[in-house]
Amino acid sequence: MYDTDGRKYLDGVSSLWVTTFGHRTPEIDAAIIAQLGKLDHSTFLGATHTPGIELAEKLLALTPGLDKVFYAGDGSSAVEAGLKIAYQYSVQSGQPRPLFVHLSEAYHGDTLGAVSVGGMKLFHATYRPLLLKTATVGSPGLRAPGQTPVERAAEVIKELEAVMAAQGDQVCAIVLEPMVQAAAGMLTYDASFLRAARELATKYGALLMVDEVATGIARTGPMWAHQHAGITPDLLTCGKGITAGYLPLSAVLATDEVYSAFLGAPEKTFFHGHTYTANPLACAAANANLTLAVERDLPGQVAVLGARLADLLKPVGDRDSVVEIRQLGAMIGVEVANVRHRTGFEVCRAARKRGVWLRPLGDTVILMPPLTLGEAEQNLMVEALAEAIDEVVR
Ligand code: PMP
Repeated sequence: MYDTDGRKYLDGVSSLWVTTFGHRTPEIDAAIIAQLGKLDHSTFLGATHTPGIELAEKLLALTPGLDKVFYAGDGSSAVEAGLKIAYQYSVQSGQPRPLFVHLSEAYHGDTLGAVSVGGMKLFHATYRPLLLKTATVGSPGLRAPGQTPVERAAEVIKELEAVMAAQGDQVCAIVLEPMVQAAAGMLTYDASFLRAARELATKYGALLMVDEVATGIARTGPMWAHQHAGITPDLLTCGKGITAGYLPLSAVLATDEVYSAFLGAPEKTFFHGHTYTANPLACAAANANLTLAVERDLPGQVAVLGARLADLLKPVGDRDSVVEIRQLGAMIGVEVANVRHRTGFEVCRAARKRGVWLRPLGDTVILMPPLTLGEAEQNLMVEALAEAIDEVVR
């Protein structure tokens, strides 16, 4: 990226975690232009179009266990749709269940439904009186000093068991970010928690909804982060990297079982749709992006990228000025010591002076580079970060 003075930056956070291949990808540019020559926009309400059908097929081919796609506009509105689907599913299955279970520290977007299942005090506390009914369990990623990820997962599994034992028949869905709570500062957690959430949702007749808006499209390695745990969710939300950052588009993926509850009578329909749902240009961008993701073996590339970045970051993590590095694939949070107000912000500003664009989440500096970042750029990114930390955190 270049600023208005022509200074060059390496974008180490993929804009807001979206530019899969970096800024501008010739194949995606061409796909959008080709689509523009055919159809600019056409409503998806009660109608369909070729790029939308093609994208649904591509998404489902990448997602064993899920069978249907419902489009939305951005991550928040996909979550909103997923919550409504989960509740309506319970109604149409014969027992309305008005309660959602979610994790503390969660972030699922800024609309009121998404805020209801969020747990970040700064963003969410003000709206509590307006929100849906929820039960919160602790973040499996927030470990006490000396505690292992498995021990912390076991603690939160107990909490979840207790919530479900007490109120499970009221719960329509357990909603969570799989494997890593991103906006909370890349709080990674053990796969055993995800497996337990799957089992408990099934045991109590609730749905498991995984929010893969941040983690999807190979960001953590496998195409979806829930695949680390070998589970299948009932609902999956995705957005962000789905169009490689070109245009807004998101989706909810669901099982045939969930979908079938919406058939058979007009009043069973899921009445939810926005003007720009499944915009054809966005679908064309997403189709080209997913084609490249498969052709270029993004999961394989992220495995290599993640391992190399982990090696490069080791000496950074050894510094006294760094509290912890949390990483899953190409999602990385470097938590720096809180030496004064806005330390993380200052570290990012110091990195920017060195030509690397990063963003903080509190005292955690986020590295979410394009998934095809070359070795020289990886070196530049980590060197700039190390120098910035040494300059600021003293
Ligand atoms: N879910 C998760 C896990 C996210 O990280 C985000 C955005 N950071 C959202 C939902 C909301 O997406 P959007 O900003 O596109 O509405």
